[in-house]
Amino acid sequence: MAITVVGSVAFDTIETPAGRRERCLGGAATYFALAASYFTEVQVIAVVGEDFGPRQESVFKARGIDLRGLERARGKSFFWAGNYLENLNEAKTETTELNVFGDFSPKIPEAYLGTEFLFLANIDPVLQKRVRDAMPQARMVCGDTMNYWINDHRDNLLKVLPGLDVLLINDTEARLISGETNALLAARGVLALGPKAVVVKHGEYGATAYFGEGSFGSKDVPRPFRSPALPLDLVVDPTGAGDSFAGGFFGYIASQKEVTPAVVRRAMFYGGVMGSFAVEKFGTERLQGLSRAEIDARFEVFRELTHLD
Ligand code: AMP
Repeated sequence: MAITVVGSVAFDTIETPAGRRERCLGGAATYFALAASYFTEVQVIAVVGEDFGPRQESVFKARGIDLRGLERARGKSFFWAGNYLENLNEAKTETTELNVFGDFSPKIPEAYLGTEFLFLANIDPVLQKRVRDAMPQARMVCGDTMNYWINDHRDNLLKVLPGLDVLLINDTEARLISGETNALLAARGVLALGPKAVVVKHGEYGATAYFGEGSFGSKDVPRPFRSPALPLDLVVDPTGAGDSFAGGFFGYIASQKEVTPAVVRRAMFYGGVMGSFAVEKFGTERLQGLSRAEIDARFEVFRELTHLD
């Protein structure tokens, strides 16, 4: 089953303790689409400028990603520069240039209107809501957000949350949304705002899923589930780890016949697997050249990491 993703397609300048890269292909929708493309078909809704050329396009095409919803506008693509020199778990943003993204009004190709799986990557919640409302047939909707929207556009974000099956956020965002510092209370606080489940990512320490009552066909409240992250000796570039997690997570779910709590738990592992690949090289490089066999082999490593006889 295909997934439609709406979000940023960007150029990123990234500096980490491992080095610096100028203007590499990035954006939340890009990382998500590449990661999910190993599991299912992916359709992108985004906008790029005249600096997005055949070289960038070929990265998507090589993975069979549908770009009919990628609008080309006059001007420059979204540009983001950040570094991880002080903290590998959190980017320090140096520059955000919205460029063509500033006037982005998502246009949904007719061919996408039947899509049952929708991912609302980190963009203005007003746009997230607009896309969600324009695709009422989507039977599972996952979404992401960030501190900027939580702090300065809270009312708009609160209108998006009840429409989500899963909200994927990190620890800091869960605390910001809920106002709670305790992890469990923060997750419950987020669930009270409407999403059926929340996946809280802990950077290099894995992720935890918290479920609302009756979510994914269960009779009661499924217990929280924690998935690991792979201990790595070198994190080259953490950019896009969260979006790659989301791509692995949702891509796996969309590839399954039914969405049950057991499927969601396995999806958490696939999310961790794709996040662990993403950080091994700069930008999207590692996500471009994977094979399903490599992904499944790493899934087994994740299983070993947590298995108890
Ligand atoms: P992540 O590291 O998973 O949180 O996502 C990193 C990607 O998000 C980068 O490739 C950026 O281009 C993109 N990004 C950064 N800031 C924003 C923003 N304000 N809106 C949309 N995308 C962004």
